Amino acid sequence: MRKSTPLKRAAPCATLSPVAQSESRDAILTKTPAETAALGARVASRLSVGDVLFLHGPLGAGKTTFARGLIGAWTGSTEDVPSPTYTLVQTYEGPRGQLWHVDLYRLDDADAALELGLEDAFASAVTLIEWPERLGPHAPRDRIDIFLQPRGEIRLIEFVGAGGRKGAHFLD
Ligand code: ADP
Ligand code: MG
Repeated sequence: MRKSTPLKRAAPCATLSPVAQSESRDAILTKTPAETAALGARVASRLSVGDVLFLHGPLGAGKTTFARGLIGAWTGSTEDVPSPTYTLVQTYEGPRGQLWHVDLYRLDDADAALELGLEDAFASAVTLIEWPERLGPHAPRDRIDIFLQPRGEIRLIEFVGAGGRKGAHFLD
C-alpha cells in the first residue's frame, strides 16, 4: 500500500488540487468524467516529447477519459479521440510534437510491444500507455506512473515518479 500524507499547502482550487502531497507523489480526486478529462488537459501543458506516462487502473477507471482530455489539449483539436483498444496505437500531432496513445490490453506478449515501434515513441514522442503492465521487461525506467482508483463516481488519481522523473509537484 502507498502511504497517505497530509495536505501540505493551501489548495487554490477545491476540485483539482492535490489531496495529498509528498516529495514523491501527488494525489487528486475527481468527481466527474469532465474533471478527469480536465486533469488530463492540465497534465498536457507539463509534458514534452520523450515523456512517458503509464496509466494504471481497472477497466472503467477513467484511463481513456484522462487520455482524451490530455490529447485534446496536446493537439489543440476538438476531434474525437477513439480508444486504441483494438488498434493498440493511435498517433497524434501537436504543435509541440507527436503523441502516441497506446492500449496494451490485447497485446499477446511483451515482445510484441517492440513491434509496435514503442521504443521510437519513447525517444521522440509523448507516450501514454493504458495497461502498461503488459510491457514487462520493456517498460522504460524513467516515467510517470498514474494510478486511477474508482470509488463510485469519484476517482483517486495518484502521480508517482519513476527513474529520473519526479511525480510530486508535477501539477503545480
Ligand atoms: P478505462 O479506459 O480506464 O477503461 P474509460 O475512461 O473508458 O475507462 O471509462 C471510464 C468510465 O467511468 C466512463 O464510463 C465514465 O463516464 C465513468 N466515470 C464516472 N465517474 C468518472 C470520473 N470521476 N472520472 C472518469 N470517469 C468516470
Ligand atoms: Mg481505456
